[in-house]
Amino acid sequence: MPEALKQLINSISYLPWIWEKSATKLAFFLLNSNQNFVETLSENLVNIKEKVHFCNECNSLTDINKKKCTICESTTRDKKTIAIVEEYLDMITIEESGWYKWVYHILWWAISPINWVFIWDLHFEWLFKKISESDNKLELILATNPNIEWEATSTYITEEISKRWLNYKVKITRLSRWLSSWYIEYADNITLINALKERKEV
Ligand SMILES: [Zn+2]
Repeated sequence: MPEALKQLINSISYLPWIWEKSATKLAFFLLNSNQNFVETLSENLVNIKEKVHFCNECNSLTDINKKKCTICESTTRDKKTIAIVEEYLDMITIEESGWYKWVYHILWWAISPINWVFIWDLHFEWLFKKISESDNKLELILATNPNIEWEATSTYITEEISKRWLNYKVKITRLSRWLSSWYIEYADNITLINALKERKEV
């Protein structure tokens, strides 16, 4: 097998959800694709590293020439309500479910020392700063997934807010039992909307 093809199969095989055989199939698909398609694909791959960065306000993603993402930039959003999510895809799922006009804070990780993710790896300071600098009382929705790492992360946020005397500035809520065993990403619309609508104060 030519070296370049071997290298491509090797690179593809590092991608998640790709088995060894699928890596080979994909490499051959690319080999047989037209030049334009392959060039656009490789350009797009480089662009996501060079032209995408984090929003200064919510830690979501935005274009490199913008400080804020479209949600934070919007003037029609309720900035007094912040949904805290782990993943970008959780935010997208909530947004796609419909009528919520609040803002988000994306953590990207949950605290998990066993996987070498520690408190300092998450951008909690941004969040606490946002709360302490706010002129309004905020609602913080812990829109978290049902697993032990997220329990630890939610507990940390709740305790830290209390320790920093921020309780009077923030009401913390959690999703209702509707979503008790579902990951946000996989929940159907009705379940997700009900869980968000019937959220309970912690
Ligand atoms: Zn943002």
